[in-house]
Amino acid sequence: MSETLREALRAWYEEEGRRFVWRETQDPYQIWIAETFLQQTQIAQVEQRLLTFLARYPTLKALVEAEESEVLRLWQGLGYYQRVHNLLRAAQALWHQGGWASIAKSADPLKALLTLPGIGPYTARAILSFAGWGAYLPVDGNVARILSRLWGDPTPLSQRHYYQKKADALPESWRQPWVAFALMDLARLVCLPRRPRCKICPLHAECQAFHSGKPTQFPAPRLTKTKPIQQWIFLIYATSEAVWLERRPAKGLWGGLWCLPSERPAQPLPSPPVFRHAFSHFQLWGYIKSLPAPLPSTNPVAWSELERYALPAPIRRLLQRLAFSPSSFTAELFRP
Ligand code: SF4
Repeated sequence: MSETLREALRAWYEEEGRRFVWRETQDPYQIWIAETFLQQTQIAQVEQRLLTFLARYPTLKALVEAEESEVLRLWQGLGYYQRVHNLLRAAQALWHQGGWASIAKSADPLKALLTLPGIGPYTARAILSFAGWGAYLPVDGNVARILSRLWGDPTPLSQRHYYQKKADALPESWRQPWVAFALMDLARLVCLPRRPRCKICPLHAECQAFHSGKPTQFPAPRLTKTKPIQQWIFLIYATSEAVWLERRPAKGLWGGLWCLPSERPAQPLPSPPVFRHAFSHFQLWGYIKSLPAPLPSTNPVAWSELERYALPAPIRRLLQRLAFSPSSFTAELFRP
């Protein structure tokens, strides 16, 4: 990875790179929030939501004082709700230990950040690098793909720590925020997983995968496993005015969100589900069953008030689809 290559990358980034608000700041709080939003989520999907969130909670203090239900509401639809719980727990912990100054003053800021809930090796390095507190190249899956190809190294992306360790050993001139931003943009626009656009890539002169003639063979594919299916029955009691929802426990799937109560069938259901939803580790097949009376764990939520509640995206879609009227609760919808 020569200096010539780095200059080619810089020229490309200046011409083609994106200028996001969160790339223009050195405020560690804003960087942390942005990186948390961007985990497992497409930029296009979150950009406006992130700006809304930062306008509502512009500082660590504002987040520390936030109502969890309000934060969840701003987050709804983005999935991975554990991120919200971790964000709030980390905000509290950081606040009580003296805020960002305590990280800046720490003998080992990387280690100090890694003790906070939800902050892993990538996010910790991103915060320190982008805030100007350390020279790191944070490696996410996209950056790891480029490094794998550049170095002609087939190590699968599941070995993220391997790529991060190698990135930590790069010369300091490669461990700069703009390099990380450039590689992230390059991964999104040029070094695509299945169809890398090597001819227009600023790195092709030194890219081992390109010179091998088979760039997509790097990195080696993960072994794909079929996701197991979990069948869930959602229990619905509703009138023309309201639907009865319960708040899910703070920990676990859809933690802290409002939801229809649910149960797992004693035996596998043979019929197709009313809806399917993919999680990272399993597929949820959702069924619905009508109740003659509300469960004690539930509270009535007026149909007109649903927007104010943080609901899992598939449950919101299901309720919108039902758009309650007694006639819409057809036998076809109620399986089993
Ligand atoms: S030359 Fe091709 S494989 Fe190599 S980094 Fe660029 S786009 Fe990716």
